[in-house]
Amino acid sequence: MSTSAPGPLYQPAGTPAGLESVRRLVDTALDILREVSAARTGPVAPGGPGGARAAAAEALAAPLLPERGGDPGEVLAGLVRPYAQWSVDITHPAALARMQPPPTDVAAAAELVGAVLNQSLHAWESGPFALELDRWVIGQLAELVGYDGAEAGGTLTSGGSVSNLMAMTMARDTTIAEKLGRYAFQEGLLRLGVQPVVLCPRGVHFSVERAVRLLGIGEDNIITVPVDKQGRMIPEEADRILTGLPEDRIAVALVAVAGSTDLGIVDPLPELAAVARRHGVWLHADAAYGAGALFSPRLRPMLDGLAQADSVTLDLHKFGWTPASSAALLVRRAETMSSFGLQPTTCLSADDDTCAGYIGAQNTSLQTTRRVDALKIAVSMRALGRETVAAMVDTCHDLARHAAARIAAEPRLELGTEPPLTAVLFRYLPGHGLDADDFNGRLRRRVMEEGRALLARTHIAQEDGGSRVFLKLMLLNPETTTGQLDLVLDDLLALAAAMEAAAADA
Ligand SMILES: *Cc1c(COP(=O)(O)O)cnc(C)c1O
Repeated sequence: MSTSAPGPLYQPAGTPAGLESVRRLVDTALDILREVSAARTGPVAPGGPGGARAAAAEALAAPLLPERGGDPGEVLAGLVRPYAQWSVDITHPAALARMQPPPTDVAAAAELVGAVLNQSLHAWESGPFALELDRWVIGQLAELVGYDGAEAGGTLTSGGSVSNLMAMTMARDTTIAEKLGRYAFQEGLLRLGVQPVVLCPRGVHFSVERAVRLLGIGEDNIITVPVDKQGRMIPEEADRILTGLPEDRIAVALVAVAGSTDLGIVDPLPELAAVARRHGVWLHADAAYGAGALFSPRLRPMLDGLAQADSVTLDLHKFGWTPASSAALLVRRAETMSSFGLQPTTCLSADDDTCAGYIGAQNTSLQTTRRVDALKIAVSMRALGRETVAAMVDTCHDLARHAAARIAAEPRLELGTEPPLTAVLFRYLPGHGLDADDFNGRLRRRVMEEGRALLARTHIAQEDGGSRVFLKLMLLNPETTTGQLDLVLDDLLALAAAMEAAAADA
């Protein structure tokens, strides 16, 4: 048995030697990413789900925790290569499916710093500057929304889904406290003797419905507010529903969408705010995607009235060019976040510490240990500046309008609606008695399986009560040109025509 002094068990990232090691490892990884990028033929490798599974089976043959570890550079290269090869290339002009913008270079670098320093937001001693930075970014985002900085508050979250859950929690607790002088988070809902209900339009993001389930309100207690021809919630209808609620019901939230995921619909915020105020109901605005419009003088007026909402969901990892997670929940009155203010049982937030300024951010979050997303947001926004972000947003909107005009001009394509933001819905109209829903579903799977383009798919409700399959282009890459976009549509049309011809022959 060896008796020599044991070497270090591992190389921590943050020491002087560790930093050099990280630099070498990052070089290795970036070289691989560059090689993979140069070898790409489209936005995703051809082969579809079977191809990804086969690549994974090969790369993941060794166990997660082998008896003896390997060389970090080799281990890293061994997984980074297939990971990159089977990543979707969100910088590719035909990557049009999802709300994943290509993030800025500086934001990616900041993510690395975040990982090396591994700060957290739950206690002062877990990240002193991180806490200051986090609070400052929240304040700046609150001002972007139009809130009064002195009163407003909020938190960075892991995404719009969590922001919506938190907003619905505050809506339930604050409205019940204001109307009944009682605390749902203390007594539970049963003892209150009234049933909370939530009003929202058809087409609200599913995370709102999930929040209603999780909060014990129950999805049967969602009241769907009718919408107008443009799909916008009708304030008079919300007013009518609220006025007619039976005694044993208490409306806790009116949820408005400020930029719906598919159609970019923005509900009439000022009118809904007036209705909510009149009935003492919390107004939540889900601007997870639509908040991008705030950066553009041209599109910003769409969101007039946003600051009248009690809470706003905003994702910068969608329409803001920072990597996930970069998301916020902002509230008009900071004190309404008390729903999350459980007193910790440890000494972490003992009063004398709090008084001395040793304050963490765990009382405004669902999480305890929490990553610091504020750094990448701050450096990315500062590096871009207002003019450039506005130009990026407008360019994406222009690309969407270009795609819509091209689609409208193609006899075999049907345009959903004019895109208010950057999502373009359309469908191919096949002949030969082929079912359009089935055909568009197959068309999308085929382009993805061949690695030619990435498209999203959605159902759009029709006036007859049914719904139809539409394909969706999500334009969040301002480096894409109209010419490249035309090529994607040309390619799609050619493939659809070939599929149609093959079906006719069969
Ligand atoms: C994307 C989206 C969400 C969910 O946000 P995540 O960050 O993906 O959790 C919620 N609401 C709307 C309107 C969205 O577009």
